[in-house]
Amino acid sequence: MMLEQARFVVVEASSGEEAFKQALEEPFDAIITDMTMGDLSGLQLCRVLQDDPVTADVPIVMLTATDTPYNRFCARHAGARAFITKADASSSLVETVEGLVDRAEPRATKPIGPSVGSTDPIHRLSRILEKHLFLTLVSAEVRGVVGHATNRSDLAHAVLALCSEVLQHSYAVLELIGPSGRLVAIHTNDAWPADELEGIEALSIDPLGASVERLACVRDVRGPIAPPGPPTSWSIEAQGEPLGTLTLFGGPKGLDDWTRSLAAHMAHELAPVARALVLRERLEEVAATDPLTKLANRRRCRERIEHELTRSKRSKRPVCLVICDIDHFKQVNDTYGHNVGDEVICAVAAALRLRVRVVDLVARWGGEEFVIVLPDAPLEGGRLVAERLRLAVAALTFDGPLEGVSISAGVVQCDPSLPMDANLQRADELLYEAKKRGRNRVVAGIIDSPE
Ligand code: GH3
Ligand code: MG
Ligand code: MG
Repeated sequence: MMLEQARFVVVEASSGEEAFKQALEEPFDAIITDMTMGDLSGLQLCRVLQDDPVTADVPIVMLTATDTPYNRFCARHAGARAFITKADASSSLVETVEGLVDRAEPRATKPIGPSVGSTDPIHRLSRILEKHLFLTLVSAEVRGVVGHATNRSDLAHAVLALCSEVLQHSYAVLELIGPSGRLVAIHTNDAWPADELEGIEALSIDPLGASVERLACVRDVRGPIAPPGPPTSWSIEAQGEPLGTLTLFGGPKGLDDWTRSLAAHMAHELAPVARALVLRERLEEVAATDPLTKLANRRRCRERIEHELTRSKRSKRPVCLVICDIDHFKQVNDTYGHNVGDEVICAVAAALRLRVRVVDLVARWGGEEFVIVLPDAPLEGGRLVAERLRLAVAALTFDGPLEGVSISAGVVQCDPSLPMDANLQRADELLYEAKKRGRNRVVAGIIDSPE
């Protein structure tokens, strides 16, 4: 035979089963198999050989009578390193095998390690199929999550719920990075201290700049944290972009191999889902931001007012709205040009944003008009804020001949039983009143109850 003439020692096996048994006992440099054989096909033999650490590295050449794209696809995915038709074998088999063997480390120097599991290839094949089926199931679950998770928090919760079903761990930590910051979700299978910070510290989570959430655990045991053991982390990344990490703590027993390989698989499957959410978050950010001032735009502002009105209805806590407008702004544009006008709008925006609490929202309502949403503020508080903003804008100075600008403002304490637009309209009327009274002033008022 050609290979023997090329000084290879060839051992023949009469079936796939026999080939597998021989490969477990002897270190071969390459295995050549037919695609179609008896009980065990060439493709199945490939999968079984790939699955055992002893034979995983032996290059496999797939021989077939028919060269179709489908056959090539199957051979490649089963792990064959070369694909040759029987018609081409006489001209290219020796060359192909030489190429594969040259590139491989000489097998003779490699000790044969312990094999894993049964030597019956059919038995093994069913185990491999089972494993693939399970991994496919996990992939489908992770990808299915994208259908209903509209934000990273929902995603983290769904993934950790899945982890709690399929992984064996004492604590799991999922960190997801996004445009609005880090989100850290913790799943606990073991005891969790009443003082959350104690647990966060024990799991070496850096809470700075992150929103940390704990998922309700399977066994809700309150108590001192169990020794978590060393962490094992899998990074979640797509196209080189870091998107987060999945970290598991195995407790005193450590993590088993199956859990490790499943966790790696989950982190891998999670990456495109996490990326889709990050892109969505970025898009939402752009859609809700005013490009000139980088303040929230009218759309985001309306969403926020709606949210605060609902909250206020429930909690009975007051909410104030301030509408302010730059005085005689048309004159600024007409005298100094549109560019200076834009600079003034930006300077006013920055002055407003700097002087409110983090929970307050400053939005560009349109043109030279701004709306400020003040949760938990009664009318007097809202008036004081508006007054502070008015003074801050009046104190602004500009390069060039423009001496300064002023704003007028209307302040209203919302009536949460009225629709948003009715509340806004009342604030607008008060702004108009401030303009009428001479500008550079604040007019605050309540809403008359409708009849
Ligand atoms: P009042 O004190 O009554 O508010 O007078 P005003 O001149 O500020 O009011 P008016 O509504 O007549 O003019 C607003 C001007 O703001 C007109 C418009 O050209 C200008 N404007 C609106 N949006 C922008 C913008 O994005 N950039 C610039 N530079 N000007 C804008
Ligand atoms: Mg104006
Ligand atoms: Mg205006």
